[in-house]
Amino acid sequence: MSKSDKIRLRWWIAAIFVLGALGAGGWYLAGRMEKAQPLFEQLQIPAYFGESTTISGRIEDVGSGLDSFSVSIVIQGVGEHILAQSEFAPSSFFAKSTENAAQFFATVEPKKLGLADGQALIRLTANDASWRNWGKGSSASLEIPVTIDTRPPSISVLTRQHNLNQGGAGLIIYRVNKPLKKDGVLVGDIFYPGHAASPQDPLTRLAFFALTHEQGQGTQMAIEAVDMAGNRSRTGFYSHINNRRFPHDTLNISDSFLSLILPRFEPLPGADPQSTPKEKFLIVNRLLRQANEDLFRKTAKKTEPEMLWSGIFGRLPNAANRAGFGDRRSYRYDGQIIDEQVHLGIDLASLALSPVPASNAGRVALAQDVGIYGLTVMLDHGFGLFTHYSHLSNMAVEVGQFVEKGQVVGNTGTTGLAVGDHLHYGVMVGPTFVNPLEWWDENWIKNNVSDKIAQALNPEQNQ
Ligand SMILES: [Zn+2]
Repeated sequence: MSKSDKIRLRWWIAAIFVLGALGAGGWYLAGRMEKAQPLFEQLQIPAYFGESTTISGRIEDVGSGLDSFSVSIVIQGVGEHILAQSEFAPSSFFAKSTENAAQFFATVEPKKLGLADGQALIRLTANDASWRNWGKGSSASLEIPVTIDTRPPSISVLTRQHNLNQGGAGLIIYRVNKPLKKDGVLVGDIFYPGHAASPQDPLTRLAFFALTHEQGQGTQMAIEAVDMAGNRSRTGFYSHINNRRFPHDTLNISDSFLSLILPRFEPLPGADPQSTPKEKFLIVNRLLRQANEDLFRKTAKKTEPEMLWSGIFGRLPNAANRAGFGDRRSYRYDGQIIDEQVHLGIDLASLALSPVPASNAGRVALAQDVGIYGLTVMLDHGFGLFTHYSHLSNMAVEVGQFVEKGQVVGNTGTTGLAVGDHLHYGVMVGPTFVNPLEWWDENWIKNNVSDKIAQALNPEQNQ
């Protein structure tokens, strides 16, 4: 190699080294100049702030890491309160931030901060540790409008009388002063939601409620309301409860009865090949009955947001009452009482395979085989009121279908735990089975439903 070749080679090596250094430096600089902004994630910031509201979230910067963030509540024209803040200063100008993400939690108590009810903003700001903006970093900010509301909702009761029978139903109408998250009547520990009187008048609320066949005098009843900010109110109302005594009946369980009905429930969950007919009967009468009633209660959680019905509820025509609501039943087998249950509907016997009319207008909520109840149609009449038609031989309607009062929903039969052809007719208010007799009674409907609605919703016409 000549001397000039050696010099040229050195120059090349130097040039490659310089270019490499510049490239690496540029790469590093580009990294430190990254412009990806910090991101706000997993924000839990409700639209309404009550007396004490917790907010939380996460701030992330995948590039240079976080330099700082702050969360504050701002009332325009009044001031700003810092709720949470942090700084993650790198150890030197060349060091990167060690934090790529941070969580924040803050509990906002407007009264302690001296904040009045009204509109406010939650302001989030964050800076990353990039060298952009002359070293200040990329920043991100977000403002979320919220409403501070620390006042409990007000409830005014519009209906005067609430006379209830043990195992019976009632209606209350009340007005609230703002949109609510939840409202209704609490009877013991059973909750009956309120419903908007109409879409035009959502602050006037109607709630059908009930006493179970076990709830008599002394049962605690109150209206409860929870607003969007979680403020809660509770108010009592005038009520009178009539205790009821329910008849007692003993049913004899024979081997021929068991050999007739048990095959209908095969295969029976909970039974094994060694189970005796008596043991199988107890599984049917206790566990299957309970599961069937749970299905009805689960179905009743969803209801139409308007009253689809009017007038009295129809009864199966030309039928005799065979068993009443609330009857206490003892089951006797081989001379011994082996079980006790309560009959939660009315049994009606007419001619075999009689057509069964819908007792009022409604929507089909359930139409299927329901264990001891056999083929069952359950109608939703709106606002949590349901009727049941059980032991049918066939069903003439489908779930979701609207039916008119009197429209045939099926024919009577002997499906489920039935021997003679009959209709088991049940009425439910929310999760509670109630006495159907009330809904067949024109005076009861007038005094407890239609007159109340007319007086509460059109008071000037009914003075
Ligand atoms: Zn029955």
